[in-house]
Order: sequence, then C-alpha cells, then structure tokens
Amino acid sequence: MSELSIPKTQTAAIVRKQGGPVEFDDNYPVPQAGENEVLVKVLYTGVCQSDLHTKAGTATGADGLPITNIKLPHVGGHEGVGRVVALGPNMSPDETLHQGTLVGVRFASRVCHECEYCVSGREQHCQKATNHLHHEDGSFQQYCVLDTKYLTLLPQDIDPKVAGPALCAGVTAYKAVRNADVKEGEWLAVIGAGVQLTIETVQYGLAMGAQVIGVDAGAEKQRFIESLGAKFLDFTKCRDLVDEVRKITAGGTHAVVVTSGHPRAFQKLADMIRIGGSLCMVGIPPGDAHLDIPIATIVIRGLKIQGNLVGSLKETLEAVDLVRLGKVKPHVQVRPFRDLPQVYEMLEKGDIPGRIVLQL
Ligand SMILES: [Zn+2]
Ligand SMILES: [Zn+2]
Repeated sequence: MSELSIPKTQTAAIVRKQGGPVEFDDNYPVPQAGENEVLVKVLYTGVCQSDLHTKAGTATGADGLPITNIKLPHVGGHEGVGRVVALGPNMSPDETLHQGTLVGVRFASRVCHECEYCVSGREQHCQKATNHLHHEDGSFQQYCVLDTKYLTLLPQDIDPKVAGPALCAGVTAYKAVRNADVKEGEWLAVIGAGVQLTIETVQYGLAMGAQVIGVDAGAEKQRFIESLGAKFLDFTKCRDLVDEVRKITAGGTHAVVVTSGHPRAFQKLADMIRIGGSLCMVGIPPGDAHLDIPIATIVIRGLKIQGNLVGSLKETLEAVDLVRLGKVKPHVQVRPFRDLPQVYEMLEKGDIPGRIVLQL
C-alpha cells in the first residue's frame, strides 16, 4: 500500500460512554504515525473479556474499584494483528521494519523502559505504561498507530488469523502455567467457568507437559476440553469438586490456575492442592472479593500463592512461538468485524468454545 492510498477516515467500533452500546463509526479519523511510530493496517483482532468489562464499566482496578478513568470514545481491541503501512517521519525502512511487516497490537501500548519493572523484563507492571484499553485506541479500528520502541514484531511466517489471541489470552495462559511452576507430568487444574481463557490455559498446560484437568460447565466445553487431551470436571454436576480433583490426581493437584472471575471459583481451592503446590490467579472478581484460605493452611502445607497479570513482550513472543510451532493450536472462528456486538453478547453468556477472531 502506498502512503497515498491511506484514507483519511476509517471504520472503528466505538463506545461513547461506559455502559453504553458499541457502535460503528465509518468516519473515524485515521491516526498519523508520529516520531518513533508506525501506522498499521489491522487484519484480524481477537475479542478479550476485558474489552467487554471496560465497555460495560465493570473492569476492576488494583484498588478493587471499577476502572472508569478511560479515554472516550473508547476503541478497544488488544489482540490485533496487522501490517505496517507507513513509518513515522524521519524513519527509513530496514530489514526488520518496513511496509508489510507483520506486527501485533497488544494490551500494553507504551512503557517507560527505565523503571525497575521495565529493566527486569516485567514491564507489564510499569507504573508509567499506557495501554490499548484505557489510554489509546486499539485494534477495533482499521488503522492503528504503534510505538516502535515497544513494537510486537511477530514471526513473519505465522498465520495472522491465529496469532491475535496469543497476544493477550495466550500469553496470560502461558505465563500463568509458568508461574504455577508445574513440571512435566505433574497435575494442573484449570478452574474456569464461561471464560475463554480456560481453553488457552488448558492448551498451554498440555503444551508444557502437564497433565491437565479443565473445570468448567456444559457438554460443549466438555467435548472441547477432552478433545484437547485434558480431563474434564463439570462443576455443576460434581458432588464435591475437591474430592473429584483429589481422586483423579491421587491426593491433590500440583498446581491450580483460576481463570474464572467468579468469586465462587476461588472457594476451597487450598484443599485440592498438594503439599508444596501452587495457586496462580488470573481471573479478577468484581469488587473487593478476598481469597479465603487460612494462613495456617498456607504455612503448614507450604502453598505458593500468586497473581498473574498478562506477560512481558518477551513472554508474549514465547507464547506466539508455541502457536507458530503448532504446539498450541488455537481453535479460531473468523467472523466479520461488524459482528462485534453479537460476539460481546456471546461472551456475556460465556458460551464460546474456542476463540472468535474478527476480520477487519
Ligand atoms: Zn485481554
Ligand atoms: Zn517502566
């Protein structure tokens, strides 16, 4: 695409106020790449649960309060894959970055590169970071500007349809399994319910050599999770979930990852974990829900408990690479961009097995 063929306006999915509907604006301005920026034509984008929560105003911050301080109109999308169409002023193309280079639009948009988190490869915790959810327009638009100092250069041979979900859900799942510190052949229980991330976590757990139990509800989820090679427990049918997990794992699982954001998913977790095992939490319940595990239990049974917030750029590319190598096979359904409102409805009901990717 030559720079001349870049239009002045584009279609974007915008939310005018939190709690309001998502609408399509066909006259949304195409941003211009500034210094150290590139303009990207978005090809595909995944839809993340946090897009839905941000749109609805139900996303919870670290203080337990709803996140309301966001850029409006809000343009979500942070599982985007696109190609560079223009470089910022004074930039010349080189071997790695030129027109046509395949890049990702991730949650984090910019980081400071200087703080203790940035310099230690944990830049997802950078306190000066901005993101494509609260501060900058994401991939729910045809053209997006990205910072070249924090650019997600994808493997150029990866299928752009399947790479998107790896950029948020995939890396979150990958990092959670790594944080859970589950070794080859050990047991990992993934506690989900109606969130897509459960499937990814099951897949990354299997890819990293664990024996996995997916805990979710419904026959469709069961078929899907079992088809991946994991065991399945339907928490709506189990008489005693802890008991079932202990039975399958002969005494308790080595690790638990909770992907669900429902407060009930966090109950009685300690009882299903083996001595010395770990609990890694990903889902964020609304409000100030607390983890109810007696301190005595944590100490005496030597449990490791930690939270998990997406992953760094390096970890994202590791998660992407497992997809590229075919070790994790995303089950992706491609739908037109204009289906976003229906996809949100499906996400609300929690009935999407696999992932929906929108084609822009
Ligand atoms: Zn996300
Ligand atoms: Zn920083």
